[in-house]
Amino acid sequence: MDNITALPKGVSKAAFARAITELRGVLGESNVITGAAGLVSYTKIMLAVPDSEHQPSAALTVTTVDQIQRVLEICNKYRTPVWPISTGRNFGYGSAAPATAGQLVLDMRKMNAIIEVDAELGTALLEPGVTYVQLNEYLAANSLPYWLSFPSSGGLAGPMGNILDRGTGYNRYGEHAANFCGMEVVLADSTVLRTGMGGIPDTTAWQAYRWGLGPWADGLFLQSNLGIVTKIGVWLMKRPPAHLFFMVAYADLDMAARGVDTMRELRLSNVLETGVIGLTTYVLAATTRRSEIYQGEGSIPVEVMAKYLADRGLPPFATLSVLYGTEAQIAVNFGIAKQAFEAIGGTVISSGDALAGPGIAHWHQNMVGVPNLHEFGIYNFRGGGGSMWFAPVLPARGQEVIKVYRLLDGIFRQYGFDLAGGFVVHGRHLEMIVSLLFDRTSAEETGRAYDCFQQCLQACTSAGYGLYRVNTAFMQQASEAYGPAQKALNRRLKRALDPNGIIAPGKSGVYV
Ligand SMILES: Cc1cc2nc3c(=O)[nH]c(=O)nc-3n(C[C@H](O)[C@H](O)[C@H](O)COP(=O)(O)OP(=O)(O)OC[C@H]3O[C@@H](n4cnc5c(N)ncnc54)[C@H](O)[C@@H]3O)c2cc1C
Repeated sequence: MDNITALPKGVSKAAFARAITELRGVLGESNVITGAAGLVSYTKIMLAVPDSEHQPSAALTVTTVDQIQRVLEICNKYRTPVWPISTGRNFGYGSAAPATAGQLVLDMRKMNAIIEVDAELGTALLEPGVTYVQLNEYLAANSLPYWLSFPSSGGLAGPMGNILDRGTGYNRYGEHAANFCGMEVVLADSTVLRTGMGGIPDTTAWQAYRWGLGPWADGLFLQSNLGIVTKIGVWLMKRPPAHLFFMVAYADLDMAARGVDTMRELRLSNVLETGVIGLTTYVLAATTRRSEIYQGEGSIPVEVMAKYLADRGLPPFATLSVLYGTEAQIAVNFGIAKQAFEAIGGTVISSGDALAGPGIAHWHQNMVGVPNLHEFGIYNFRGGGGSMWFAPVLPARGQEVIKVYRLLDGIFRQYGFDLAGGFVVHGRHLEMIVSLLFDRTSAEETGRAYDCFQQCLQACTSAGYGLYRVNTAFMQQASEAYGPAQKALNRRLKRALDPNGIIAPGKSGVYV
């Protein structure tokens, strides 16, 4: 073979060539892609490291569980690792490319059957390649009264990959890792495992009851390299009879922090079921070019941003949320929420008026089952295609938000970047999700972005905050923060289930 882009670690050219020949025998010539040109769509990493560090050696497109089993047999024989992707749109976390160079991307986009939707229980059993758009169209075509929870990147990604990376959405079921039910997994030795109730022959409750009997194995396969998931059960949100979008504008960070405390209280008492606190800088990033706000060196100065916002009557921070239920339920809950937010100084605006701000309609759609591509506008803000999400987990307390916001804003300013993102407020925790946007065509800026991310990671870890999810370039460092005992356990599990290390080495910093 003379078109090898990268070799798996420790695998000779000759062994790799033999593996490719055997894989072609199983999958057919056109489903084993090698060579730089064919692999382009698997290499757009957007990260602040050279492409070569995440260059796959090949991509395999598979259509059946049986093919995956046979692929794993060959990979074990030649020690060629595979990096599974479902729809491969993990933008800002490494996209479809592997954690380390030389792995073969196992592309399951063509496995896209909606196997079953239970109209009464509101559950769906899906293959990896099913996209949110596809599932939404299925629900519409079959007049099924359910909404999907999906990430803010919209409908081109899919439930499987998002759940497996513990992604976030924005309706009642927005904490995706908490709202899936039952999996089918191919282990490294080609065993096919059905988790939970899926072990019972002719199972009746696989997508209804999560836990089965005995240890709950499903968690082992999230953000993990212990198996390849080929089916997943997803819970769908029953479409409510009515809904109401509202926004709470905050004058400053202190007031936004009180907003976090208020959201926590309202979530813990089930008045609110969803909600984010956004930095207006992020909403602007999706709708505006940075040069319209500021053309100077370094980060946008505080006073420049303050004037830009004031001139347009925009607050620096805002809660965005939707209430679900009957008209009567919403009226009661809106009354409670309005009173609570006004008591801390927030300005509450609902429905039509609230939707008028730039990019706000997108967030409304996120919360009512309408995927859209609006947010990709963030890539025009600065330009240059660099993107890394920095996403620490915080307890849902206003004082913690002030602390971490100031910490990260300080580091972003030190490196000349703009802090843009928001807080996804769940009951007891929140995910602070910030997009580090940079110009990847500039080596100098790319280097600065790398250093900025690393410093944010170190600063958060030292202050007791870990990342909920991280891009492939920083998986090793972010996982170190969770301590030696977790690292050792992960390694023992890996050695037991995948002794040759052929599934996604380096995922979440785990190796054999
Ligand atoms: C503008 C923008 C906004 C975004 N907003 C959000 C957001 O609100 N919430 C959010 O969660 N994300 C967000 N993202 C990130 C990303 O787009 C989504 O998380 C997306 O769902 C991930 O891509 P995917 O679904 O194609 O998963 P994939 O890329 O297919 O999978 C993700 C990872 O999971 C693992 N994996 C996938 N399939 C399997 C399998 N079958 N077996 C074992 N392991 C597997 C792999 O490690 C893979 O890298 C955003 C991105 C952008 C650009």
